[in-house]
Parts: sequence; structure tokens; C-alpha cells
Amino acid sequence: MSLAGQLYKLQQVDLELQRKQQELTEVENRLSDNNALVTTESKLVSQEEQLEDARKKQKIAEWELEDLQEKAKQIDSKLYSGTTKDPKELVNLEKEVKVLKNQIRMKEDALLGFMSQVEEIETKVKTTAEALERLRQEWEQRQETLGPRKSEIETVLVKLRGDHDGLAQQIDSEAFNIYEGIRLKKGQAVVKVERGRCLGCHITVPTSQWQKAKAGDLIQCNNCSRILYLE
Ligand SMILES: [Zn+2]
Repeated sequence: MSLAGQLYKLQQVDLELQRKQQELTEVENRLSDNNALVTTESKLVSQEEQLEDARKKQKIAEWELEDLQEKAKQIDSKLYSGTTKDPKELVNLEKEVKVLKNQIRMKEDALLGFMSQVEEIETKVKTTAEALERLRQEWEQRQETLGPRKSEIETVLVKLRGDHDGLAQQIDSEAFNIYEGIRLKKGQAVVKVERGRCLGCHITVPTSQWQKAKAGDLIQCNNCSRILYLE
């Protein structure tokens, strides 16, 4: 096989190596990407804290309401039991009941507010918990499918690296360095010549050049510097 032919073969291995390496990186990124999971988990924690807080407020309002109702009841019984005869005191008691009833109404409104808040947050917590469960399942599924995929790619990479080393060993070091230099700049270092054109830049290659290349000399395209390969 000509030197250009060997380099062309090496290039096929190197391009495949590159593709597999990229694929591995993508798989690894997807395997470790737990952003959605972490975000949803902390969202749930904060919603649960909000819920606890709202429930406390509701409980306190219930106790305060009970206290007020109890007080109002006691005054009512004083008023209607007939034990209090003093008109001045009766007027005062009536005033007190009026104030208490007002406070009770306000407390009831506040309690209703807290109750609907609790309900609202409960719905949010439920939605977030469901989303989190879905994300956990997705995560597990991803680990199950992508874990083996990762091992597969790693096995292929080991084989390709072996192929690369085997081929590189057979190639003259000066030619190898030229190849590496062009690959670094252009991605593809060896190109075929078809119908007299360099497939790297599509410029016509002088006949003398491609004839030399065909004969086995290491010839670079005058225009794009890529190594020309003719089968
Ligand atoms: Zn060219």
C-alpha cells in the first residue's frame, strides 16, 4: 500500500475515533445531567416548608377563633342569665359582645384565607411531587440504557486506539507529522483525487502531480496542502 493509502486508512480510524469520543462525551453528559432533578427536589422542599408554615397559621387562627367564641359565649350567658342587674354593667357587656363578634368575623375571614392558602399550596406540592417522581423514573431509565451504551463505546474506543497505534507504527514518522499537522488545521488531511480534482478543495490537480501521487509519492495539493490519494 502506498504511503498516502496508509495515511488514508489511518485517517478513517482517526475520524471514527473522533466521532466515538464525541459520542462518549454526549453520553457521559446525559448520564450526569441531573439539573432538572436537583431543581425540582429543592422546589419541593421549599413548597413543603411553605405548606407547613401555612398550616401553622391556620391552626393558630383556629385557636384564636375558639378563644374569642368562648369569651363571647361567657358574656352572652352573663347577659341573658339575669344575674347582672346593673343597667350600666349590662350596657358595657353588650358593647363587649359587639366588639367580640366583630373580632370573630374578622378572625373567620382570616381563617378562610389561610385555609384556601393551605389548599393552594397542597395542590402545588402534589404537582411538584409528581413531576419529581417522573424525573426520578426518567433518570433511572437513562442510567439503565446509557450505562451499557457507555461501556460499548469505551470498548470500541479501546479497539480503535489499538488500530490507530498499529497503523501509525507502520508509517514513516516524517509523513506522520505532516499528516498530523494538516489534520490539526483542516480536520481532514488525506483526500482522494477524482476526475482530476482534489476532493478537499475541488481545484484541478495538475496531471504531473496526481500521476506522482498515483505512483506512490507523498504529494500535497498545491491549493489546500492536503495529501492527495489515488487508489
Ligand atoms: Zn486541495
